[in-house]
Amino acid sequence: SKAKLFDQNTEVKTTFKDVAGLEGAKEEVQEIVDFLKHPEKYTSLGGKIPKGALLVGPPGTGKTLLARAVAGEAKVPFFSLSGSDFVEMFVGVGASRVRDLFKQAKEKSPSIIFIDEIDAIGRARGKNAMSGSNDERENTLNQLLTEMDGFGTNTNVIVLAATNRADILDKALMRAGRFDRQIYVDLPDIRERKEIFEVHLRPLKKAKDLDTEFLSKQTPGFSGADIANVCNEAALIAARNNKKAVDKQDFLDAVDRIIGGLEKKNKIIT
Ligand code: ATP
Repeated sequence: SKAKLFDQNTEVKTTFKDVAGLEGAKEEVQEIVDFLKHPEKYTSLGGKIPKGALLVGPPGTGKTLLARAVAGEAKVPFFSLSGSDFVEMFVGVGASRVRDLFKQAKEKSPSIIFIDEIDAIGRARGKNAMSGSNDERENTLNQLLTEMDGFGTNTNVIVLAATNRADILDKALMRAGRFDRQIYVDLPDIRERKEIFEVHLRPLKKAKDLDTEFLSKQTPGFSGADIANVCNEAALIAARNNKKAVDKQDFLDAVDRIIGGLEKKNKIIT
């Protein structure tokens, strides 16, 4: 049996409705949706459709979600892999996986390729020249650049990649015709947190005392992923206490729990 090379999803259900806040980023990726849906509108005037864009921002802010929503909005298949999968890979495996990924995506074109944690393969080259394990990473990166350069003018595949460390990326990745656009995906402000709460409260049985304005005030510095976590944790706490609906106190307890978790995580890092 063959190991799965990458994820592919031909019927993406995620749309912009699932992505709260991020108005600027959504506006920018809306253009990519349009390139995928109506390429002739651009190419007939002699324009070249961009091949790649980099989604840049802290962890858990919705980069993967946004990339998936682009595919969902354009109704095109979504192919994805994570840069971290390539760490400690056998010689040749990374490059051949990238080759297969692009081959599949081109066959199913128009389509989206999403590479999460691109920094794991796209770190500036030559920094750890002494470590042999680095060679495969470089092979993989070179293969990625080769594939993007090799796109014909009418290959309607757009490559989105995510990173929280754009500063350490190899400049070759950002050259014209590669990931030459950067789209910022920041932590949500108070108003955006309220919107994210609204999205993640949708599936819950809510008590009358729930107030998303209050919840967004209680969660400064939280990412969208943290908020999704809070909502789920609150539902579990309410269930544990045999409640019929999730109430304000369940949310406060969930927020405390998530803050505790975040503090622990930060202690390990620093
Ligand atoms: P990482 O850099 O850690 O891969 P990411 O930026 O790709 O993170 P996602 O994986 O997209 O973040 O977010 C994780 C989950 O958090 C999403 O599946 C979603 O449930 C929730 N989430 C994050 N941002 C938002 C948002 N703007 N609106 C709604 N939900 C969000």
